[in-house]
Amino acid sequence: MEFISKKYKQLRLVLDPAIARREMGAVTVQGIRGSLSGITVEFQNGFYETEDEKIIEMLKNHPQYGVKFYSKIGVDVPNKIGLRQENELKVLAEEIRSTCPKCGKKFKNEFGLLAHMRKHKNE
Ligand SMILES: [Zn+2]
Repeated sequence: MEFISKKYKQLRLVLDPAIARREMGAVTVQGIRGSLSGITVEFQNGFYETEDEKIIEMLKNHPQYGVKFYSKIGVDVPNKIGLRQENELKVLAEEIRSTCPKCGKKFKNEFGLLAHMRKHKNE
């Protein structure tokens, strides 16, 4: 499977961070997610190709998938949808936070509302 990163030609992704362990005097390096020596993938000229199911799975579940890099097929970009929903929720939360609970007047931001709320205090 081919992955593409248009913007970041030399994108480097640490899929399984390696940590060094000292056991009985000997230092061994192991990935925290169970790989032998950690997994890092590096895009070459904006491309990365692998047939390793484990790496494909990790790449597809990576938070930057659909953001900084894509799969060539480009069919399933779950994170892109997730990110959009997250943004919509943020907008919604912002709207709730910036709407006056007393008179329902909307403000550009929380600060506008806070200034407005002082007026109600004096009512
Ligand atoms: Zn109000």
